[in-house]
Amino acid sequence: MIISGPSGVGKNTVVRALSPLHNFHFAVSATTRNRRPDETHGVEYFFVDDQAFSRLIEQGKLLEWAEFAGHRYGTLQDEVFLHLDQGQDVLLDVELNGAYQVMEAYPDAISIFLMPPDLDVLESRMRGRRGMTEAEIATRLKLAESQIADGWHRFGHVVVNSDLDAAVSAIAGILRAGSPE
Ligand code: 5GP
Repeated sequence: MIISGPSGVGKNTVVRALSPLHNFHFAVSATTRNRRPDETHGVEYFFVDDQAFSRLIEQGKLLEWAEFAGHRYGTLQDEVFLHLDQGQDVLLDVELNGAYQVMEAYPDAISIFLMPPDLDVLESRMRGRRGMTEAEIATRLKLAESQIADGWHRFGHVVVNSDLDAAVSAIAGILRAGSPE
């Protein structure tokens, strides 16, 4: 199951709110970006340096990876397949290029594009996040605009995140309908 969408649309919040409604393993990604004050290594991400990230690529340990806003992010094969093998649903929170890679390799994956109601909402959500610089916000906003235009129609489902509860229950419904049991 893939949840994607522009940075700041609320993917993290949605994923957190979804966990009591649907049983899944959240695939913790590797990233080269710095840890924010409220993040824990191994929970939100595995924070690694550039060298370690390159090693993961060389060793074939990543299902997909992409560069986003100056940093690299990648889905660890083990975070996906070890859990799928145990019969668990697995959820990826990835930016668009990563989502395209997984959708192409696994066309049966459920893919959801989380859409902001408008760009102002995106900007204020980014500002509400600690640890993001003005330059980062500006880069991500510009990127978001083109991602929305290019991306939304390539996903199996589009959910607008204007009301969190409504978005989360829509996604839970999509996942329920698409799960084997
Ligand atoms: P942030 O730095 O705000 O945590 O994440 C930036 C973007 O990277 C988000 O859109 C998030 O979905 C995406 N992302 C997180 N993990 C991965 C990953 O493993 N692969 C890819 N391609 N994108 C990821």
